[in-house]
Amino acid sequence: LWVTFEGGDGVGKTTQAALLEEWLRGQGRTVVRTREPGGTEVGVLVRDIVLHHRGDIAPRAEALLYAADRAHHVATVVRPALARGDVVIQDRYLDSSVAYQGAGRVLDATEIRDLSLWATEGALPDLTVLLDLDPSSARARLDADEKPFDRLEAEKSEFHARVRAAFLALAAAEPARFVVLDASRPPGELAADIRSRVAPTP
Ligand code: C5P
Ligand code: MG
Repeated sequence: LWVTFEGGDGVGKTTQAALLEEWLRGQGRTVVRTREPGGTEVGVLVRDIVLHHRGDIAPRAEALLYAADRAHHVATVVRPALARGDVVIQDRYLDSSVAYQGAGRVLDATEIRDLSLWATEGALPDLTVLLDLDPSSARARLDADEKPFDRLEAEKSEFHARVRAAFLALAAAEPARFVVLDASRPPGELAADIRSRVAPTP
């Protein structure tokens, strides 16, 4: 079972991934919780480049860096875990690239998706949870955070609006893979909805 969490910055993906992990462990499952970018040693280096040089990397170069991170992550972490029968819970995957590198940087969505599918030899998750929230609420949530961050600030609000719309379009195009949840709801309720979607999956 491979579950990915998607959505804009500050929507609560990490919180929900952690809650799902805890629940699955309680059910006796072995869980690998991971993320992109940065789910491997090499990926941490790529993450450092893409986040610290955001805005001054040519869009196609940025897209290739995310794809390189993804290729290595799927080959060395995700596929081996799934082959062992572990559950993989992942913070961001290729839908983030279609949304950020595609809609955000205005590259072709199909090309970005195809690049990721080439990079991963066509790996797609069993379930993708899209946490949907308007970017201004997400910003308020990040502002309330104690940790310093440079996430939403890095891009203009139109960028985040395009990203949000792209995620919703992806979910509409693949309703069998996606569950879309209103991320303004209480975290405990969201977690219960996510569990009910995951429970029947072997
Ligand atoms: O979700 P996380 O905090 O790990 O993401 C780090 C940053 O990388 C976020 O600001 C996110 O918008 C950005 N990102 C991106 N394209 C991706 C994945 C993440 O621009 N494909
Ligand atoms: Mg997060």
